[in-house]
Amino acid sequence: MSNTSGKNNTMNLKAVIFDWAGTTVDFGCFAPTGVFNEVFRQKGIEITNREARGPMGMHKRDHIRVISEYPRVKEEWLRVHGRECTVSDIDEMFNNFIPLQLSVIDKHSEIVPELPEALKVIRSMNLKIGSTTGYNNEMMKILGEAAAKQGYVPDCVVCATDVPAGRPAPWMAFRNAEALGIYPMQSIVKIGDTVSDIQEGVNAGMWSVGVVMSSNEMGLTRKEINSIDPADLQKLKESVKDTYFSAGAHFVIDTLAETEELIIKINNRLANGIKP
Ligand SMILES: [Mg+2]
Repeated sequence: MSNTSGKNNTMNLKAVIFDWAGTTVDFGCFAPTGVFNEVFRQKGIEITNREARGPMGMHKRDHIRVISEYPRVKEEWLRVHGRECTVSDIDEMFNNFIPLQLSVIDKHSEIVPELPEALKVIRSMNLKIGSTTGYNNEMMKILGEAAAKQGYVPDCVVCATDVPAGRPAPWMAFRNAEALGIYPMQSIVKIGDTVSDIQEGVNAGMWSVGVVMSSNEMGLTRKEINSIDPADLQKLKESVKDTYFSAGAHFVIDTLAETEELIIKINNRLANGIKP
């Protein structure tokens, strides 16, 4: 039976929309971070990794603009250039960003360890797999091909540059829903690793979920995670969790190994008439 309305219909999840870097590939989301540092360095401005990672998940041009609007960066820009950062500065940095990002993306294309099992679970439950990203088509082409070689081929890929605005706007998610033929939006769960991912999920009316260990918010390699003091790791995880919940996340998972459990939990909520 169709389940767009009516109280006796049981709705189940029909699709998962994954983010790319920091969620399904590029553990710790390292590919873009160094490139943001570099484009600002080229303009004489040193930014910290934390500043570079702050707006992660957005369209990369928006990302550069948001960094330039941080009070500390604004001040430093004024000191170095004797004037404020302009739209043409942002354009120039974005133009510089593209080839640099393209040159390193392949190095950071390894899928996260829990993905293959999660894909099996999702497929066995007959859910579709969509995806959204702050990368442009050229970057996604390289990353998509690298992921395909490792067995990851989602049913749909929508880039920030395919729509009028990237995250936190919901347009990439709507484009996925349309392409996958799936509605209503509450039958879709979005999984991502940044604040803008969570907001995208919420703004699209989907279940919005943050993944912790591989995330931009953690910003650590697997090696670093294994060597960090367990108490510090726990603190860091809690802080990432808080960040996701503050952004409106419905659930937070440690890794994609929790995918099956997550889908069951959401299906239970849907069965009880609870919407995101
Ligand atoms: Mg990401």
